Amino acid sequence: MRDSKQYSRRQLFTHFARPPVKQPRLVISNTCDNLYGYCESCNDSCSKQAITWYADKKPVIDTDKCNRCLECIDACFISAITMTEE
Ligand code: SF4
Ligand code: SF4
Repeated sequence: MRDSKQYSRRQLFTHFARPPVKQPRLVISNTCDNLYGYCESCNDSCSKQAITWYADKKPVIDTDKCNRCLECIDACFISAITMTEE
């Protein structure tokens, strides 16, 4: 005989009815000045050390360390960093 799993009402609500939480995410566009010259303003502004800087590349933001304080967005003088919803 088939053993069917039983779910409580709470389990049904929390596992099946709750919509996935959308986390905002920071994106660095290809207009980043560090692709063409030297810039690490965003890296300097991040107090969480969430940004890793590479020569001649766009910086990479660690989403686990980032607390979305938006300091790097303010620090980027060409507005290359934007916030999106995943
Ligand atoms: S939003 Fe704040 S914590 Fe996240 S990368 Fe930018 S400066 Fe760092
Ligand atoms: S501050 Fe802006 S232009 Fe400079 S490295 Fe960061 S994203 Fe690129």
